[in-house]
Amino acid sequence: MTPYILVTGGTGFIGSLTTVSLLEAGHNVLILDNLSNSSPSVLDAIEKITGKRPDFIQGDIRDAALLADLFSRYSIQAVMHFAGLKAVGESVQFPLRYYDNNVHGSVQLLQAMQAANVRTFIFSSSATVYGDPKFLPLTEDHPLSTTNPYGHSKLMVEEILQNLYKSEDGWRIACLRYFNPVGAHPSGLIGEAPQGIPNNLMPYVAQVAVGERAQLSVFGDDYDTPDGTGVRDYIHVMDLAEGHLAALNYCLENDSELLAVNLGTGTGYSVLDMISAFERSSQRRIAYQIAPRRPGDIASCWADTSFARKKLGWTASSGIQKMCDDAWRWQCHAAATKNG
Ligand code: NAD
Ligand code: UDP
Repeated sequence: MTPYILVTGGTGFIGSLTTVSLLEAGHNVLILDNLSNSSPSVLDAIEKITGKRPDFIQGDIRDAALLADLFSRYSIQAVMHFAGLKAVGESVQFPLRYYDNNVHGSVQLLQAMQAANVRTFIFSSSATVYGDPKFLPLTEDHPLSTTNPYGHSKLMVEEILQNLYKSEDGWRIACLRYFNPVGAHPSGLIGEAPQGIPNNLMPYVAQVAVGERAQLSVFGDDYDTPDGTGVRDYIHVMDLAEGHLAALNYCLENDSELLAVNLGTGTGYSVLDMISAFERSSQRRIAYQIAPRRPGDIASCWADTSFARKKLGWTASSGIQKMCDDAWRWQCHAAATKNG
């Protein structure tokens, strides 16, 4: 029996699409998710796309007894750890919730792995660990700093992983620092489904395009950028999924190692660039108004991708038009499903 890849948070946005890539590459997948920010219907979509249904356990990464049972029942080769809370604003309001879920949850998971002698770990980190960039593009050795509990929880887990790696032989760990994941599966069957008002730009833009929201607020047009709006490195979520596969393959083929790797495209686009691209994809006008800067936002951020290319042999291939085309297909599918 082929051993399993345990995917925590595997019914969420990035975890579900990485599961698609894992299944298509021939892996067996076991998902552990507490469904706090996702729906089990995603399992049907994964099966529709891949023809395979991943094993699924509804449960929490902080549940030590459940983890011990899971590791005793399944032969697990590696863990991809997506489960976590991800809203920056909410993390400022409820820091303990974030440290408990993201830090304590990761420690519980690592303890269960240690007990089961599973030592290959792919972690969903974030470019937020770089703080306000001192130089661009951001290389992996850029100084690390954070400005909010969410970012701090990611940095703390990276530090815990460094300590663990030094303390014991055999760990193969990749901290994948995502830039801005957007887009959806090209079938339109799986995408990002934020609950309530979206915090992130692209889900908000998509909801304006489909008529669910009246207009977008563009947070600041007076940044030191070509058009004054914030610049980010948007990466197609399917490229991100492939980046996880590349990291997994690297870890499985090599001896003990701890990597921190940027997953981005290396190109920055402004808020207005993204609005225009989405208008082209949807053939609709995106109404927007210029609003004050959002507290805590940085002007620009994009990745140096050379380490990912050299180390993992991976580069992103999709441009922003493909990201917007796929996000629009998903948004139309989601709206049609919602309206029966
Ligand atoms: P998501 O909310 O769609 O997926 C996370 C999943 O984890 C959800 O299905 C949720 O139900 C589950 N979950 C949360 N806490 C859990 C717990 N204690 N036990 C079990 N399951 C739990 O988020 P996403 O966008 O897919 O992000 C995945 C990971 O990537 C997160 O760790 C996030 O911090 C990180 N990340 C995301 C972005 C982004 O912009 N989406 C950027 C950088 C890093
Ligand atoms: N943004 C915006 N309006 C929104 C949400 C975001 O103008 O409703 C801008 C934000 O200021 C930033 C860019 O879009 O310049 C990306 O923001 P997002 O929250 O998606 O990602 P992050 O800030 O985490 O990079």
